[in-house]
Amino acid sequence: MDVYGLLGNPVGHSLSPPMHEAAYDELGLEARYVTFEPGRDALETAIEGADALGVAGLNVTIPFKQEALEIVAPEDLATRIGAVNTIDFSGSGPPTGYNTDAVGALRALRDHDVDLEDARAVVVGAGGAGRAVAFGLADAGATVAIANRTEPKARQLAEAVPRASGHGLADVERLLAEADVLVNATSVGMEEDATPVPADALHGDLAVLDAVYRPLETRLLRDAAEAGATTVDGAWMLLYQGVEAFEIWTGRDAPVAAMNEALRSRL
Ligand code: NAP
Repeated sequence: MDVYGLLGNPVGHSLSPPMHEAAYDELGLEARYVTFEPGRDALETAIEGADALGVAGLNVTIPFKQEALEIVAPEDLATRIGAVNTIDFSGSGPPTGYNTDAVGALRALRDHDVDLEDARAVVVGAGGAGRAVAFGLADAGATVAIANRTEPKARQLAEAVPRASGHGLADVERLLAEADVLVNATSVGMEEDATPVPADALHGDLAVLDAVYRPLETRLLRDAAEAGATTVDGAWMLLYQGVEAFEIWTGRDAPVAAMNEALRSRL
């Protein structure tokens, strides 16, 4: 029996257990996916303990993603993003840390036939999700304009991301006029029916990914659909960060349809 899990605090409402267990069921794997909620000062002990107990892989979520970087051997992309959300214990040395949020966003967009090579992308938000998406899009060949409520954070991030520029939210309308891709990486739209982007800045040549997945249909995505844009909801990004973790851990192609069904039936 292989054991996988999620380290976070809190982890009560996580959709990762049913999503990963659907994959094990589909492929007939002897595996379980469980949640762990260590104390906020116990991350290192938890990771070492998991390694010693033979846990095969862990996802990491709030508030541990940044601290995990210091405990595992991170891949280059995770180091640049500054956060680890997936740990693989299969090697003989220290566990390896990955950030699959970036790849999750890219696979979500590509799955909707969005071409990222030389695309002009606008990322709204410069927190954890914004960092992951900005580095991911740049690695995929896009030029990235990062706009954030706190403008200095966007400028600072843009200095680290290739071919990126940093802006305040006031620039979003102008940036979008020339853009092919828009990603909302803020939490706006989660708590209330609000959008970080004026509806009349959206247009039919855009692909719009909203990282928010509760609710699935945000105001931004409704506005985008009305403007004729391609829309990609946050569950696709959540799905593909899980798919990527599954593939890192098992070395097998993930059963994407089964994982997607398990996820969407709970949203
Ligand atoms: P975070 O690190 O706390 O960053 C929050 C971001 O939202 C910051 O850029 C912040 O701007 C901005 N923001 C918050 N309230 C705002 C407001 N009222 N107006 C404008 N901007 C505002 O959070 P995170 O981890 O990046 O997560 C952001 C969102 O992405 C959440 O909804 C999360 O659920 C979602 N997410 C989804 C996935 C997925 O797989 N679908 C993965 C990761 C995250 P300031 O810097 O100015 O505070």
